[in-house]
Amino acid sequence: MDIKQSEFVKSAVTPNQYVEHDSYEIAFVGRSNVGKSSLINSLTNRRKLAKVSGTPGRTRLINFFLINNLMYFVDLPGYGYAKVSKVEKAKWGPFIEAYLNNRPQLKKVVLLVDSRHKPTGDDLMMYEWIKHYGYQVIVVATKSDKLTKNELAKSSKLIKETLNLAGEDKLLFYSSVTKKGREELLDIIFEGNE
Ligand code: GDP
Repeated sequence: MDIKQSEFVKSAVTPNQYVEHDSYEIAFVGRSNVGKSSLINSLTNRRKLAKVSGTPGRTRLINFFLINNLMYFVDLPGYGYAKVSKVEKAKWGPFIEAYLNNRPQLKKVVLLVDSRHKPTGDDLMMYEWIKHYGYQVIVVATKSDKLTKNELAKSSKLIKETLNLAGEDKLLFYSSVTKKGREELLDIIFEGNE
């Protein structure tokens, strides 16, 4: 299924502000600057649906997007940005966990990691939360246009080892620049829900 229609619906902080609906959601989460906004924009063929951040770490909200008048993409706040205060850093945990803990509509979580770097401690914690709450995880390694074939193979091994991916977990490489991985990711996102 391709994405023909997409619109921003609302931002939320607390669970009582989440969009009320009986459909399903796919959430996107990752470190600040990992390329999450660029990925959402390239999936939806929109240039500015999700804000590409000049200043990483500024987006503190959960953003809901209605896709094909059918289901929702949920853009969770980026984590791990070095320059935010300790207090700010301490906030994102409970914030994301509250969402993961309270969302029967949530079907799959797309966890973005940077293909050029070893996944961080925060990435691992996020992966473990997603699994703990029982959601299907799709690990997407971003900015893959920056790697050679050889480096891609190494990166794949490093991500699998560092996150200790289970056999059923999907890992794919993505580039918002070349759109490599787009079709595959869309197939996985909508699989079983069309
Ligand atoms: P976010 O903070 O996770 O939403 O990340 P952004 O989407 O704002 O991207 C952070 C930076 O990485 C921006 O300068 C983007 O242009 C760049 N970027 C994002 N995706 C890609 C990609 O697939 N390839 C390359 N080369 N750069 C990317």
